[in-house]
Amino acid sequence: MSGALAERLRAVEERVAAACARAGRDSRQVRVLPISKTQPVAALEEAVAAGCRRFGENRVQEMAAKAAALAGSADLSWTLVGHLQTNKARDAVAWADELQSLDSLRLAAALQNQCERQDRRLDVLIEVNTSAETSKFGLPPADLPRFTAQLAAFDRLRPRGLMTVALPSPDPEPVAACFSLLSAWRERLRERDGGGWPELSMGMSQDFELAVACGSTCVRIGTAVFGARPVPVPEL
Ligand SMILES: *Cc1c(COP(=O)(O)O)cnc(C)c1O
Repeated sequence: MSGALAERLRAVEERVAAACARAGRDSRQVRVLPISKTQPVAALEEAVAAGCRRFGENRVQEMAAKAAALAGSADLSWTLVGHLQTNKARDAVAWADELQSLDSLRLAAALQNQCERQDRRLDVLIEVNTSAETSKFGLPPADLPRFTAQLAAFDRLRPRGLMTVALPSPDPEPVAACFSLLSAWRERLRERDGGGWPELSMGMSQDFELAVACGSTCVRIGTAVFGARPVPVPEL
């Protein structure tokens, strides 16, 4: 592969590998999740040609449209990373097999219900608000013990870990503080449960090397793989 996208993807993978080496980590512990929101189907086709098989999207209708458009091209899977309203649970379950933005029991109940109806299962990561001042979404960290215990009632949902969006800052210290907070909470859950919680989804184009240094297992990369985002497509 020698297209521009393939080169950007390789460059990201190399930077992840270098960050892993600096942190004494095995780079197989970190997956690069390309975030294709607002990108046209042609860009996703280029990414498929470069070897991508899973894409992250933040809106259900856009994900469904792209999944349908690409249905013939390869064996693709879809992750939702954006806030999900309960009335969109049906389409989310129909098209995605991973949701990284679980943030309420109401949503968990709606997803469980749809998984039962559609005979599906869903991997879930709990979105945590690690930057109280700036982020609108995610659970307050202190709610995690109770929330994760209550999740056990939803047997179609497979809790895999935690996700966060760090505060945007050119200064690495407050960003690292968000990542370290998420990592510390994951450790607390692992101690309580005697393991589990394999995923820590943190790091985007601007901050993924720092996230890898702080223990990320999934970096969510949009612009560094696809280039600048076009103007968002209107709701389909
Ligand atoms: C858009 C988005 C990303 C990717 O952002 P980039 O800065 O383009 O890499 C990652 N995570 C979430 C939740 C997003 O909405």
